[in-house]
Amino acid sequence: MIEAYTHTLLMIDLSRTAVETIPVPAPYVREFIGGKGVGAKLLHDRLPPGTDPLSPENMLMFMTGPLTATMAPAMRGCVVTKSPLTHTFLDSYFGGSFSPEIKYAGYDGIIITGRAERPVYIWIDDHRVEIRDAGHIWGKDALDSNEAIKRELSDDTIKIAGIGQAGENLVSFALICCEYNRQAGRGGAGAVMGSKNLKAVAVRGSNPVGVSDPQRFTAACKKAFKELEASPDVEALRDAGTASAVEFANETGLLPHKNYRNGTFDKASKLADKGQRKHLWMGSNACMGCPIRCSKIGAVRTGKFKGIVTDIVEYESAGLMGSNLDISDVRAVAHLVKLCDRFGMDSMSTGTVIGFAMEACERGILPSPKDVDLKFGNVAAAEHLIRAIAQRKEGLGALLAKGVRRAAEEIGNAAEDFAMHTKGLESPAWGPRGVSGMGLAYMTTDRGGCHQRGFPLAYELGGEWEDKKLDPLSTEHKAQLVASLQNHSAGTDTLVKCDFGSFGISTETYAEMLSAAVGREITARDILETGERIWSLTRMFNIAQGLDTSQDTLPKRFIKEPLPDGPAKGHRITKDDMATMLQEYYQVRGWDTKGIPTEETLARLNLTQS
Ligand code: SF4
Repeated sequence: MIEAYTHTLLMIDLSRTAVETIPVPAPYVREFIGGKGVGAKLLHDRLPPGTDPLSPENMLMFMTGPLTATMAPAMRGCVVTKSPLTHTFLDSYFGGSFSPEIKYAGYDGIIITGRAERPVYIWIDDHRVEIRDAGHIWGKDALDSNEAIKRELSDDTIKIAGIGQAGENLVSFALICCEYNRQAGRGGAGAVMGSKNLKAVAVRGSNPVGVSDPQRFTAACKKAFKELEASPDVEALRDAGTASAVEFANETGLLPHKNYRNGTFDKASKLADKGQRKHLWMGSNACMGCPIRCSKIGAVRTGKFKGIVTDIVEYESAGLMGSNLDISDVRAVAHLVKLCDRFGMDSMSTGTVIGFAMEACERGILPSPKDVDLKFGNVAAAEHLIRAIAQRKEGLGALLAKGVRRAAEEIGNAAEDFAMHTKGLESPAWGPRGVSGMGLAYMTTDRGGCHQRGFPLAYELGGEWEDKKLDPLSTEHKAQLVASLQNHSAGTDTLVKCDFGSFGISTETYAEMLSAAVGREITARDILETGERIWSLTRMFNIAQGLDTSQDTLPKRFIKEPLPDGPAKGHRITKDDMATMLQEYYQVRGWDTKGIPTEETLARLNLTQS
């Protein structure tokens, strides 16, 4: 029988060079569906407390969902592991076509443990699995090594996930490149891969992926496509990608400028879609089978960086590598982001780390490198640091490669006052001082300060959510809003969907596609309850791994320094605001006053045995 699930996990232990397949336990599928859910359950059940993320014992998982490789629109893949940056749960999502290929090869997921004695790559050709020497590509960047493997295997249609030099050098925010410009970017999964001496995973699959009820499934997918077409947000994404958000963030005072000191940037439009259309874009691009086509393919056509073939500079990179560093030339930003892509480094964390270093130099608590003036607006300085970090060069490179939290701890001198992170994950490009709920989302996200596990600011600035009026600066209703959005995010991340698909596709339609695909009735409510279950499971995992819940906080700048500009000028998120929102949030979740799930809650969510 052809099914949406393969019910098979491929397990590879690089220390023992052992390969085996195991069935996905049926209760995992019933309670956690797939993707983030099954990955979180596996990590929770199998990773001993206190495991060093860069040790052979850590698990690196590439997970698919039950709708992966079907005609369901806007699906992606996810990496699940313990993060070397935060030492907590990490799920990091990637588009492209690597994830469908895993399914075509016959697996719901690939789990890699151990450490190879020398650099290797894994070649998965359906059920044939080889661990191959990668000595000749170790030291190459993420894109060149991808090409080299395709040449070696004489097939340029093979799908590859690999690391660049940053992953090899264990940079804490190294990423995994899953095809050109499609990365599992956040949280340092690339360093976990590097710690295993694993350069790449190459996959070719030829097995069909089916669904339980094709007629019902096709009807549900048609509904999903219609919902996407009817969504103005999707239309805006198709037209301008996420770059149009630059001007929105600037107008609302949420755009980081000079290490988040300010919330506006007078040259923001140069980094937005207007500037990118003029200097970069040539046409649209998409992940496999996605009708949204949010990406733009292009090239730098003029100036010093002429000739770089690039993709869209998406909002987060424009904000953190552009306005945050006081750089307005979008061609230079494209150059810096491309360097990060090649080295295999998260451009969001890299931008935040560089902004921190520039401010530390300005304050005189960090010496500037001899050969470059480390000040805001200096493109050469940003490039210098990107190269130094990726190579983990002695001095600043090695220091900043540890991430902003640890760099600030080592520098001392109150550097933590302007180190922008939550639980070690560098902050996203949405300063929360004008939107309290966004602050609460950062404080409580399972993988550290992140905007993708709930994006309340859209409702806060819109002024309402469900039947409630919202004031962006107030703490009222924010706990319920954030918990509800997180449940939706975690629930639908079991599928594994792209966040932008959710801009149009309703939870009911996801449930209908899922039910038709797997042959079991799953409602929208079931998806949201699964999300709630996962949120408490990842919380339990993080606590078992040593998370101190006092880390449910914000970077000091957002707490102490009032926003100097924009519509919310003068506002900050005070300690009282944080305490009020947190206690309400814990209560909504059924956690105690210290943020620990109660026995009652664990029983209600069927997590008692977890
Ligand atoms: S919306 Fe964009 S990122 Fe998401 S699946 Fe489609 S093309 Fe990929």
